[in-house]
Amino acid sequence: MRDSHHLDGHLPTDHALFPRNGFARMPFPVRQFTNYRETDLWETDTRRLPAPLARLRRRAQRFADELLAPTAAELDLVPHLPPGEIHPKAAEILRRAGKEGFLSYFLPAPIGSMPLGAAVHSPIWQSCLVIEEFSRVCGGLMLLLSAHHLGCMPLVLSGSPRVIIRQLRPIYQSCLKGEPHLVAFAITEPEAGSDVEDGHGAAQYRPGVVATPVPGGYRLNGRKIFISGGDLCRSVTVFAALDGEGMESWTCFHVDSKSPGFKVARTELKMGMRASGAAELEFGDVFVPTDRIIGKLRGGWAINRATLNFSRIPVAAMGVGFAAAATRIALDFARTYKLGGKTLLNYQDVQIRIATMLAETRALRSLVWQEARHAWRPRQLMASACKFHVTDRAQHICEMGMDLLAGHGSLHEARIEKVFRDVRLTRIFEGTNQINRLSVMEDWQETLLGSAHGLNSVGV
Ligand SMILES: Cc1cc2nc3c(=O)[nH]c(=O)nc-3n(C[C@H](O)[C@H](O)[C@H](O)COP(=O)(O)OP(=O)(O)OC[C@H]3O[C@@H](n4cnc5c(N)ncnc54)[C@H](O)[C@@H]3O)c2cc1C
Repeated sequence: MRDSHHLDGHLPTDHALFPRNGFARMPFPVRQFTNYRETDLWETDTRRLPAPLARLRRRAQRFADELLAPTAAELDLVPHLPPGEIHPKAAEILRRAGKEGFLSYFLPAPIGSMPLGAAVHSPIWQSCLVIEEFSRVCGGLMLLLSAHHLGCMPLVLSGSPRVIIRQLRPIYQSCLKGEPHLVAFAITEPEAGSDVEDGHGAAQYRPGVVATPVPGGYRLNGRKIFISGGDLCRSVTVFAALDGEGMESWTCFHVDSKSPGFKVARTELKMGMRASGAAELEFGDVFVPTDRIIGKLRGGWAINRATLNFSRIPVAAMGVGFAAAATRIALDFARTYKLGGKTLLNYQDVQIRIATMLAETRALRSLVWQEARHAWRPRQLMASACKFHVTDRAQHICEMGMDLLAGHGSLHEARIEKVFRDVRLTRIFEGTNQINRLSVMEDWQETLLGSAHGLNSVGV
């Protein structure tokens, strides 16, 4: 890689003025605090994690590198498959992910596959570790595997042992057997994306999917759009208003995709994350029995907003994965590409850009881990701020990578153009980044108006 034994503008590592040579010669007690070896940064971060989470991160890295990476480019380019069809390689990935517990790790045994030792750590943190590793190699396959957790979240948040044992447990067990039962999460409607994620918009919105009471249950009519994994799901947690009522009546229903009247109308040909389908779902008089109401009747809005609080930090983790991918690709390029007779990395402007990408990626990871570590009861303000800041900055890092690779970056085989297409979507779903900014203010308003606990000062 190197043209000589040092990078341009730096001293050789055996030079007397190279800092670590001086550290190694300091007195023994001081040396314990100053002297260190150069280590792999991924490894350093992993060792800082509690042991069960370090194991999880290693498992996720291995799964990503061995199973997702080899098929990422191919699955990004395959022609759009009709709804319900899956590429054999994607099907195999789903099967293996299920067997290895990556589709059921949100709850511990005997319900799910979270190791008991890990259960003392926030499931959001665990989810972030896995999602970052999957995103690092392929946004589309990551979403194929992760949207399922979003779909399952309302079942968890129902708080009902009956729902968890009778509905969620069989889903997790089926996944663990290698027969993946994917669950999709459906809130977005043709006339409402932001308005189903923002209270002020929701109050004005006339719901499109409506549930009408019939003996033994409800009949659902209407359409949902952009539903990740909706084309392959075996069931979907779908939100509907009660006939003649507004969004206050929103209720979550767990619908079997084999139900008569349920139809996958189409999947979108979208710019990124192409290994995951974004489906339009049609509900034509779909009967849902009463025991498939998730949570309370008219309790859907709270379940929806709580689900988003649980999922927005993991979306930020996607941004970290994409930023890490862009940084690695830029670094690989800079270490091998020659310009003006020397490798790109020997230009100090390039060194400055790479150091910035590295620092920003690490700063974003720190924010995600800091928020995720304590997110047993994720607060909207923190989850939304983390989501919009990390994904906005992650796209900037990917853009820096694109700048560095210049024309080469526009080629599919350079891989960074795919990262660039994938990262853009994290700024749209789980609420646009504008809506997430408004969510911060929505959650904060009591304090800002001085009515919380009679406080006048605002801590930031
Ligand atoms: C790849 C992908 C996967 C998705 N997966 C799912 C899924 O699994 N399930 C699901 O239900 N949905 C899913 N979605 C939908 C996604 O959540 C919505 O696209 C998103 O919420 C934005 O809605 P919209 O596209 O209708 O934009 P709109 O709501 O129409 O917004 C248009 C513009 O107006 C702005 N805006 C809206 N309200 C305000 C306001 N009050 N003040 C200022 N600006 C405002 C927005 O920020 C945006 O810039 C997915 C979308 C994508 C792209």
